[in-house]
Amino acid sequence: MTFGLNPATADFEGRDHAGKILVVGGGFAGFWAALAARRVAGPRAHVSLVSPEPTLQIRPRLYEARPETLGVPLLPLLHKVDVAFVPGEAVGLDALARTVKLSGGGRLVFDRLIVATGSRMRRPPVTGADAAFSVDTQAEAVAFDRRLGDLVREVASPTIAVVGAGFTGIELALELRDRLVAHGGDNAAERLHIVLIDRAETVGPELGSGPRAEIEAALVAARVERRLGAAVRTLAADRVSFDDGTVLAADAVVLATGMAASAFAAQVPGAHDKLGRVVVDTALRALAAPEVFVAGDAAAADTGDGHRTLQSCQHAGQLGRVAGENAARDLLGLPTVPYTQLRYVTCLDLGRFGAVVTQGWERRVEKTGCEGKAVKRLVNTQVIYPPADGTAEALLASSSIDLAERARRVDGPKPDLEPVRRKVV
Ligand SMILES: Cc1cc2nc3c(=O)[nH]c(=O)nc-3n(C[C@H](O)[C@H](O)[C@H](O)COP(=O)(O)OP(=O)(O)OC[C@H]3O[C@@H](n4cnc5c(N)ncnc54)[C@H](O)[C@@H]3O)c2cc1C
Repeated sequence: MTFGLNPATADFEGRDHAGKILVVGGGFAGFWAALAARRVAGPRAHVSLVSPEPTLQIRPRLYEARPETLGVPLLPLLHKVDVAFVPGEAVGLDALARTVKLSGGGRLVFDRLIVATGSRMRRPPVTGADAAFSVDTQAEAVAFDRRLGDLVREVASPTIAVVGAGFTGIELALELRDRLVAHGGDNAAERLHIVLIDRAETVGPELGSGPRAEIEAALVAARVERRLGAAVRTLAADRVSFDDGTVLAADAVVLATGMAASAFAAQVPGAHDKLGRVVVDTALRALAAPEVFVAGDAAAADTGDGHRTLQSCQHAGQLGRVAGENAARDLLGLPTVPYTQLRYVTCLDLGRFGAVVTQGWERRVEKTGCEGKAVKRLVNTQVIYPPADGTAEALLASSSIDLAERARRVDGPKPDLEPVRRKVV
């Protein structure tokens, strides 16, 4: 499929099109936003995507073994649907002049912009936080994995401190024994001392009480020591010092201390929430910049049922699809569609204990053990990936906002999506 664009260049001057749609950020939100924009605009718009690397980092899997394999090359996919890739980091936005400034000094002009710059882990504001590992980006996860390989060779009975007992910290702590096994360290894995640390009094406080018993049982079975209600005073590569004066010596310290919007989101005019996310309206438009749409971990949107979006892949994909759809619709003078996400599911990997799947915002436990693990595997190896067959048609179809299907899956009374559907068709 070709729309007559040259995907190798971001120079669209002198061409007869409705305008330029620029996506900043090549994560889940940005990738599906670019595809949705192309699907809606067809040949009538130039669509380009700027990101430091042409790789979709599969961040939800970065707690797993072999993190070096957890990236999907974007260029072949973008090329198929005539989305131009521009390597670079956006550092400035002039919403009135409709330009984005790149770190190298260049500028990109847009008619509609989609900001999809995602999030970064927040390192705690304590001395030595930079010395600790994390699994926030593929590069960081690979560095941590290298350390695990060294531990297997150098330390008979290693100790690993995981700071942060939220979603990522739990998944990582419960995977660590098998991570050492993956490096050939069966003995070190058996002797491994895992300490999961949080200042909160419970594990996974953001997950609510629904799945807690299952999580706690998994931590006990995996011999993960919990240090809860424990405030970290300082960190170093080989220790965690606590406010109560105690010190934990460790062979590796790894942080999973929560995420905030990446720096570029601050460039978007208007309100931001406490995570630095841009507050957007139901069309995912920035309140103070009508040509700017925001998606993924950079956006604070209402899910359509009174909840705020979470910084999750589940929300990022749909936010991206709707932001791309709306940026293209707006450019073509068509009415925008409201973003809704009416089904909320969590799926937490519990290592050898399986996984726990919850349904709804009250996080009702639906599947555990092997049944839960099968869901997690499906999500981690298929659901979040671009279509495997990779045809242009399949790629464009994967960016569909899919209202009818989502309505069918919603539990309980069906919302009236007919007016929305009419607008989409
Ligand atoms: C270890 C881990 C486990 C997770 N587990 C889960 C899970 O089980 N379930 C779940 O739903 N979510 C999970 N998440 C969260 C999920 O990965 C994120 O919510 C998701 O990646 C957000 O997608 P995004 O496209 O908004 O941002 P990102 O995936 O962060 O992508 C942002 C992109 O923007 C680029 N970018 C950033 N700044 C700029 C700039 N200035 N200029 C140009 N490009 C820029 C980045 O390089 C990146 O390509 C996990 C995250 C981690 C780290």
